[in-house]
Amino acid sequence: MVKSEWDRVKVRLKDEVGDAAYRSWLRPITLHDTSEGGVKLALPTRFMRDWVNTHYAERIRTLWGAENPAIRNVEIVVEAARAASATQNATKAKAVPAPAAEPARATPPCAPATVPSNDTDELGAPLDARFTFKNFVVGKPNEFAWAAARRIAEADQVSFNPLFLYGGVGLGKTHLMHAIAHHIRERNPERSVLYLSAEKFMYRFIRALRGQDTMSFKEQFRSVDVLMIDDVQFIAGKDATQEEFFHTFNALVDQGRQIVISADKSPSDLEGIEERLRSRMACGLVADIHATTYELRLGILQSKAEQMGAIVPQKVLEFLAHKIISNIRELEGALNRVVAHSQLVGRAITLETTQEVLHDLLRASDRRITIEEIQKKVAEHFTIKLAEMSSARRSRQVARPRQIAMYLAKQLTSRSLPEIGRKFGGRDHTTVMHAVKKVEELKECDHNFAEDVELLRRMLQG
Ligand code: ADP
Ligand code: MG
Repeated sequence: MVKSEWDRVKVRLKDEVGDAAYRSWLRPITLHDTSEGGVKLALPTRFMRDWVNTHYAERIRTLWGAENPAIRNVEIVVEAARAASATQNATKAKAVPAPAAEPARATPPCAPATVPSNDTDELGAPLDARFTFKNFVVGKPNEFAWAAARRIAEADQVSFNPLFLYGGVGLGKTHLMHAIAHHIRERNPERSVLYLSAEKFMYRFIRALRGQDTMSFKEQFRSVDVLMIDDVQFIAGKDATQEEFFHTFNALVDQGRQIVISADKSPSDLEGIEERLRSRMACGLVADIHATTYELRLGILQSKAEQMGAIVPQKVLEFLAHKIISNIRELEGALNRVVAHSQLVGRAITLETTQEVLHDLLRASDRRITIEEIQKKVAEHFTIKLAEMSSARRSRQVARPRQIAMYLAKQLTSRSLPEIGRKFGGRDHTTVMHAVKKVEELKECDHNFAEDVELLRRMLQG
């Protein structure tokens, strides 16, 4: 019944928004879930979900309400499992607009340790067809990492083990890893290449432990030719997983198999990872990807615009390269939005429309939150003295706000734990780590507390 309601809503939507917009944004929607008084609709990427949320959600609600007044709530979510195949199809068909700005995000670290039921069969994670060497634009900040990745992809023998790639978010680590995997599989389909996130590695491990099936877990991981583990920082503080990874790592290295690892920090800066594992990870080739330069950003924009078959004036590309400096993922997202908008409204892209379409993003990129600001806001909020942020006093009354401020500093700035500790009266990084954990725990179990923290975050992000 809900299904036929949805079908009727879709027909009406199509009439209202026109064929092109319908095909781009609404047809990909699937009916995900229904419950008492509510339905859940799913889209394959975050970008599409956000777009549909801002542009069509209200309308969908109204139309659905007209079909069936009992439906009061329509929620739009990302369906992770569909993300990979949707992006693949998009590339194959050269479909524009290409709204798949990014692969579906991993589950947040505080999510319960369960394996999503739909990806339990595959050992590794699917590869994004767009993440090839051909699509990777090389510039000063990434040329070393790129050269190292090529070397691994082309070599028949292990020359350095592991390759450890590190850099900030959205700078191309995952792209390079997938490129290596694509390349090796193409050259030699016999070689088994296994790519997965450290998070997924952990979930598989936990599952094996629960199912008392660690033997076949070990077997599977130790029989691959190339093992790639993405975002290894995820297993910080997860001791059992680290231990298992350490043994897998050693077993593979001993057999002369290649390992590629990525992280957001260098091995020596990875906090919460055991010393012996850190030193093992550092003993091959460590290659970092630096923050982007203007030239690289411009190069990437040009290449993406070309791939999308979109005509984007040089002035607009230069503007974007100047303004969106955080990372490549956001840069891509911005370009996608500008192109999608122009196609939807059927008008050429100009500097004015670009500024209009991206006004929220541009405002955010003009603002950088500092630790000092966070301390000030949090102190005000809890009416304690700013000096308490760095004082040695430990009474709950000041310690809790201080922990919240540390937590927010970790979340909202790119400062490392030791840097944050220093700003809080020269505290140790483990104190900051403890604060972050504590706040996460409290958020889980105390609803009011969670709201308080969320409110502060929103005020800071303004
Ligand atoms: P990370 O894993 O470092 O967080 P990703 O590899 O996911 O970042 O990259 C984010 C996005 O930016 C991806 O869509 C990727 O294709 C794109 N990207 C990153 N670096 C480059 C590059 N040098 N050339 C082209 N696209 C890139
Ligand atoms: Mg990544």
